[in-house]
Amino acid sequence: MTMTRGTFTKSALTTAALVGTGTTTKATDVDVIVIGAGAAGLASTDALIKNGHTVQCIEAANRIGGRVFTDTVTFGVPMDCGAHWLHNRSLNPFVNIGKKLDLKLYQAPSKMRVMVKGRDATDADEIEFFSEAKRINRGMAKAARKRQDASAASIIGPENPWSLTASAHIGSLSMARDMADVSVTDWYSAEEGVDWFCAQGFGTLLAAHHAKTPVTLGTRAKSIDASTDSVIVKTNKGTLRAKAVIVTVSQGILASGKLAIKPKIDTQIRQAIGGITMGSYNHITLQFAHGTIDAKPDSWIAYQLTERKNGGPKGGGILANISESNLCYVEVGGGFGKSLEAKGEATMIDFGLAELTALFGTDIRKGYIKGSATRWGKNANVLGAYSGALPGMAATRQHLRMSIAGRIFLAGEATSFSEQATVSGAHKEGLRAAETVCELLG
Ligand SMILES: Cc1cc2nc3c(=O)[nH]c(=O)nc-3n(C[C@H](O)[C@H](O)[C@H](O)COP(=O)(O)OP(=O)(O)OC[C@H]3O[C@@H](n4cnc5c(N)ncnc54)[C@H](O)[C@@H]3O)c2cc1C
Repeated sequence: MTMTRGTFTKSALTTAALVGTGTTTKATDVDVIVIGAGAAGLASTDALIKNGHTVQCIEAANRIGGRVFTDTVTFGVPMDCGAHWLHNRSLNPFVNIGKKLDLKLYQAPSKMRVMVKGRDATDADEIEFFSEAKRINRGMAKAARKRQDASAASIIGPENPWSLTASAHIGSLSMARDMADVSVTDWYSAEEGVDWFCAQGFGTLLAAHHAKTPVTLGTRAKSIDASTDSVIVKTNKGTLRAKAVIVTVSQGILASGKLAIKPKIDTQIRQAIGGITMGSYNHITLQFAHGTIDAKPDSWIAYQLTERKNGGPKGGGILANISESNLCYVEVGGGFGKSLEAKGEATMIDFGLAELTALFGTDIRKGYIKGSATRWGKNANVLGAYSGALPGMAATRQHLRMSIAGRIFLAGEATSFSEQATVSGAHKEGLRAAETVCELLG
């Protein structure tokens, strides 16, 4: 049985009533249940339907997209709450998908702007910053090639005035974790390439691409039981039975134990759930009158960080004048970002505004309109930003692709070995899991 969002209320009630009264005699309600309607779950659902299977994709939230969602209401212009960069154009199918949807897709500026308090960095500063980032990158790559799954922090060595900024951009702002928690092997395994943007927002793109994918919203899986003939999924709306289940929830949800799984998960998979953990990364979005922030559209700004707090560099990175709009993101991640997230949205906005004021001057406050901040670590459906391996644990990522009882399959950004932590990776993993299930069902 599949349901569209439009028929959600009726369909969900029907399912609950059938099962709740025990009147169903069917062995299964559908061939496959897909849990989660983020990039992975949506891709799985489409692929399974295309292959002639009956599917029910259930989503706890009242919208699709998961960590890819564009809010157009708060500021009246698109603001991506989660993913914004279309990473690695050559591997990323969403650039062409977006173009076919007539959305505005364009390449991100290739040059990063470097600043220190109140001004642009001098040429000498820039050289020092980029050399330091390259030096750390080279050290991490060397260790990874030697198959030493060390922490990135152990590679840094003697520091210079730009080491902390370089660490922030390699660690907290890319991997969503401080260098001490970055596995060099995991970092090295991720493909890199040219980034693109979608002016209408990545969330808009994903939602448009999946406008016809049937999803049952507001339906939270509480348990999955594959210890009987069919796989039984208990939800807040009733019970469903299927031949197989694809689980696309985040590592945060898996580790939280909020989704009970039977039979007991294999030790190797449990190790991987413990070793591939969620990092912290958030957007503090600030809106200004046009022309307030003196930066080219989509400027990605590294500014010199000089202090540590809560285990990581204190500060973030800035994406200014996004897609020619009047929005700027102050990006925060890692230990510092997590502690800021814990203090609440108002503190995050104050922090973001203070950082921009320190760089562009107090006059920008006259053009300030309003702000908002995401808090993905507090989002009960995700519990963090995206996955990364702890040092020494990178090899466990592969165990996430093992099945549970031959009928429960995990898929999502975390099960990707080369595009982990990305939308493209999640999408491809959704397709991979669907293919596995199609082979199983014949
Ligand atoms: C702030 C931020 C910035 C990012 N920036 C980028 C970027 O620029 N580029 C990029 O490529 N990637 C970025 N990412 C990562 C990217 O968003 C993710 O890798 C990707 O969206 C994950 O997709 P997924 O399908 O694996 O998981 P999700 O999107 O988490 O989908 C899982 C779904 O399962 C649902 N769910 C959870 N529990 C249950 C349950 N019990 N029952 C039913 N449903 C449930 C959730 O609500 C969710 O919709 C960013 C992420 C964040 C948070």
